[in-house]
Formats: sequence, structure tokens, C-alpha cells
Amino acid sequence: MAPFAFHTTPRIVFAAGASGDIAAHLRITPKDRLLIVTDATILALGLAQPAIASLQAAGADITVFGEVEADPSLDTLLNAVDVARENSVNHVLGFGGGSSLDVAKLAALLAGSHENLDDAWGVGNARGPRLKLTLVPTTAGTGSEVTPVSIITVGNNEKRGVSSPLILPDVALLDPDLTLGLPPHVTAATGIDAMVHAIEAYASKNANNNPLSRALAVEALRLLGANIETAVFQGQDKAARSAMLLGSMLAGQAFANSPVAAVHALAYPIGGTFHVPHGLSNALVLPHVLRYNAADSMNGAATHYAALAPHAFAGIDVSGGVELVCGRFIDRLAGLSAKLGLQTRLRDVGIGEGDLPAMAADAMKQGRLLVNNPRDVTEADALAIYRTAW
Ligand SMILES: [Zn+2]
Repeated sequence: MAPFAFHTTPRIVFAAGASGDIAAHLRITPKDRLLIVTDATILALGLAQPAIASLQAAGADITVFGEVEADPSLDTLLNAVDVARENSVNHVLGFGGGSSLDVAKLAALLAGSHENLDDAWGVGNARGPRLKLTLVPTTAGTGSEVTPVSIITVGNNEKRGVSSPLILPDVALLDPDLTLGLPPHVTAATGIDAMVHAIEAYASKNANNNPLSRALAVEALRLLGANIETAVFQGQDKAARSAMLLGSMLAGQAFANSPVAAVHALAYPIGGTFHVPHGLSNALVLPHVLRYNAADSMNGAATHYAALAPHAFAGIDVSGGVELVCGRFIDRLAGLSAKLGLQTRLRDVGIGEGDLPAMAADAMKQGRLLVNNPRDVTEADALAIYRTAW
């Protein structure tokens, strides 16, 4: 068996209503000084209120930083670090979607270590130590609570990342009740993103693709595929919401150790330039990238996709060999996005045909992802994929 390493969050708490009892789960004492990193919508909805009340009742000192935006900027991160330092916090609690969790990870690192962020960008460059770190996701998609990555927007549109096991949190607390009120389009897009994480992790060409990641990806797809429609159309269904949150976390564990590839690489220019949410960006290119990968029979992608088909879509017709099953799998994924009410063409989200060449050039900057793709992608290939998706 090929050697591999597997990192994940050491303690995972999964319970409906857990956020209202967070002080007990985290063994909070009056000596704890917490910075809660979140966004204005979470605060306006009162979603963090039970958690804050629990922490206050335990006597902790609490500062709330509620300014995280979508695609969080360097300024936002540095502001969060300043607030952490001014209040001498010893524990950072990220509470929200992927953006809040990403800011919390690096705020804990920078406030804990005083290291220079410019030395920490990239893979394995963070030195630490960091402050105590707890992450509470409120969407079922990014899996950020179990990934060692934080993505920050620097300058206009440049996405930079820190990847280090150091920014895996001490605790991930998953409370599916927090996701009950997510609007259908957010549930759909984030849920498809989680499915993409599982699919890309399973088929990743990365040298660390490993049996644990593949097993987690299969179980993730089973949970996500069976529950995404219910979660979108009957948002108050607690069983479906639980399955989605667990599935997105399992997919996160899978791709944290067997990284994603060309679907994400081609999605980034859509999100970066046209401010399309991450999950929708992925959904828009997903079937087209998978068809491109599967068209080259030598790379094994079609075999992987065919293997995933019955897990993602119970009852799918698996007769007739790899090529047919793989084709049905990709068709079902494309149909799923439409069924869930997501836009399905690049032109639907304000992208002009003339924008595609620049996007293809931009996608080539995602070399760290493209190397994991089962099939090589040149700039001309990326452009051809975008044209089919347009
Ligand atoms: Zn993603």
C-alpha cells in the first residue's frame, strides 16, 4: 500500500443544540478570554446568541468581532488580529460559514505567535504556536472545521492561502440546528460544493490520496446525495440537515488529505472576478470538468466516477459498463443542480463569452489544484471547458 499521512481535527462534537451548551463542551472557565469571529448576518439572526449566553454564564470574557465578509480580505483578518491582541484573548471561536472560520484560523495563529503572515502563506510554512481554536460551522459545505487551509483575498482579487495542520482547530462543534434556517439557494450551492469535495478527493491524483479519504468521500456522498433535495426543499427537516452537516464534514476530512482539483481550479476565476458564491461557481463547471476528465479513458477518472455513482444516487442504473455508468453519474449531477434551482450556465451569472479567455488564463494560476486533476488541463483545455459551460 502506498504510504500516506492523515490529519484532522482532534475533537469533534456533533449534537443538535450543542452550540447552546458550548461552554460545557469546551470546559470554559472564568479565566477564558474568547474572541468570537463571525459576520453581521449571523449576529442579526441571533444565531450566535445561545452560544454567547452559554459562554457568559460560565464567566468567560467575550469579545465579538462580527465584520467578516464573503471572500474575507486581508484587512478584515488584520483587524480581527488587532482586536484579539487588544483584548488579550486566549481562545478564538470561529462561528459561521467558511469565511468566518478561515479568518478565525489565521487570527488564532497570528495573535498567538506574532509571526509575520508573509512568511506563513503557502503549504507548511506556519510556525505557531496559535491560540486555542474552536470552529462552529453554520453552513454545510466548506468543511473548513476539519481542513488545514485558510483562504484570504489580498488586494483586489488575489486569493492567498495558508495550509498547515497548525490551523486545524482543537475542537469542531457541529450543531445541525444552526443550519435549519439556511435559504434554499445557499443550502443547494453549499451542498453541491461538499459533493464536489468528495468527488474530487476520491479521484485526486495527489500522492497522498489514501484509503481513509476515499472511505470518507464515499460516506459523504451517500449522506449528501440522499439528503440534499430534502434539505433544500424542506429546510426544517432535522434529519436531512444533520446528514448534510455530517456529510460536508466527512467530505472536508477527505479533501483535507487528498486535495481537490480542476473543478475548484476553474471555479476560482468565476468567484474571484464575478463574485459568484463558491458553491455555485463549482456547480457551474462541475459536469463539464468531469466529462473532460472522463473522456480520456487512460487516467482512471471514469472508473472512479462510476464507482461513486451508486453511493451518490441510490438506485442509479449501474448496468452496461464504466463508460455508461460514469455518463449517467455526470448527467445526474448536472440535473441535480437544475432541480435544486441553481443557475446552470456561466451566461446566467453575468459572464460574457468574451470573458472566457481571461478566466482560462486565470485558472492556470491554480497550479496547486490542477496538479491533482486526473487529466492534464492546459489553458486551451480550460477555455474549451468554459465554452461548454457558457
Ligand atoms: Zn469547495
